Amino acid sequence: MRMQNSAKSTNAPADLRAWLAYLAERGKLAIAREGIALTDELAAIAKRLERDSAVLFPRPDGHEIPVIANLFAGRDWVADSIGVTEDQLLPRFLAAASNPLPTREVPDGPVQEVVHDDVDLLRQLPVPKHNERDSGPYITAGLLIARNPRTGVQNVSIHRCQVSSRNRIGVLLLPRHTFSYYRLAEELGQALEIAIVIGAHPALLLASQAIAALDEDEMAIAGALLGSPVDVVKCRTNSVRVPAHAEIVIEGRILQGVREPEGPFGEFPQYYGPRANREVIEVDAITHRAAPIFHTIVGGGFEHLILGGVPREATLLQHLRRSFPSVLDVRLTRGGTCRYHLAIKMDKTNDGEPKNVMMCAFGAHYDIKQVVVVDKDVDISSSEEIEWAVATRFQADRDLMVVAGALGSKLDPTTDDGIGAKMGLDATAPVRASELAFKRIRVKGEEDVDLTTALQADPGAAVARLLAEARM
Ligand code: MN
Repeated sequence: MRMQNSAKSTNAPADLRAWLAYLAERGKLAIAREGIALTDELAAIAKRLERDSAVLFPRPDGHEIPVIANLFAGRDWVADSIGVTEDQLLPRFLAAASNPLPTREVPDGPVQEVVHDDVDLLRQLPVPKHNERDSGPYITAGLLIARNPRTGVQNVSIHRCQVSSRNRIGVLLLPRHTFSYYRLAEELGQALEIAIVIGAHPALLLASQAIAALDEDEMAIAGALLGSPVDVVKCRTNSVRVPAHAEIVIEGRILQGVREPEGPFGEFPQYYGPRANREVIEVDAITHRAAPIFHTIVGGGFEHLILGGVPREATLLQHLRRSFPSVLDVRLTRGGTCRYHLAIKMDKTNDGEPKNVMMCAFGAHYDIKQVVVVDKDVDISSSEEIEWAVATRFQADRDLMVVAGALGSKLDPTTDDGIGAKMGLDATAPVRASELAFKRIRVKGEEDVDLTTALQADPGAAVARLLAEARM
């Protein structure tokens, strides 16, 4: 394990291996028996443990490279991975996004210890098949790094990557930054050079999901999250720079003018993204550490949801607070797939203000379908608490807002090709309610009870004694 330089300002683990060691020390790294099947079985075990622990699969299907799943099994894990407390997670992410730390190029790194020029993806890498109706094995936790072919500025994003043959990958490119660079390369008459990085530091995965502008390098956001620049090396077969301390890199090109079938694939709304003709990556080389670890994310699983959710929350919080300083915190709820349903906690000073806040949230991201605004005494990390606020502080004829025919998520199967409704619920108490009307009950001293002194150490003996006494 390598230690980062002394300028490192956070307590974050230094790389994927340090993160795994951190989890192991805390009993949060399960080890599967050897030889778990890459098709279905590996994902089934990972899914069962998705809220409890990371899990390492040695020799999956006999493959010598182990697979790791569930790098984040809780929202607090995301905070731990960048060395902050959970309440500092969103502020820290926002600070990193606005003060990025550029990468540092180094001549070589462990990620290139082994080089395969003769590529055979499924022989060289243990790629699992995850959800039942997925078309086959998918690389799901790969950071796709592309370079602006004119300027060399890099972009990092995660795409679902279907292994289609020995050296071809079907990839879903939404109309975002990778696609913009692909178009630029097309104008120059070139394929787009890319790399897929597997087994990177958790901060890189998180940074890849930042809502950054085109030509803002997400690896620089990762550097800021970690408090020291990410060391990068140049790929062997193209000019893309990849993290020197990652586990595995697939080097290749997104071909111009080629489309091949990709999908179906199980996605975050808990439905399958359909099969269609999509862009194709031709792989030129695979490099990896001498004994690498392959990271996989179960499509639609908790890790998938939380990884997209936290960076979106940070962006939404920043957007809302610009107009409404009374907004304290936001949460994209798990039931809302960490994309569609937003809970907002605010310290309201005027009635009606929650409706303004809702409109701002709907405008902030088209994925937001439902907003519930609650007071500062409600724990928005708990769906039960949010429901309680709706049950006791909301009346549908007065506090409900519905907007018809707005743009939503195309992956929401109830929309008409993305066109759908927005719903806002004001579940805050009126500002001028009488003091006791909306005061939550509590039992005085509950939080201070020390059960080790309040209860008897040997309840069995005590019960026997009480029963014996009662008989007399
Ligand atoms: Mn980007």
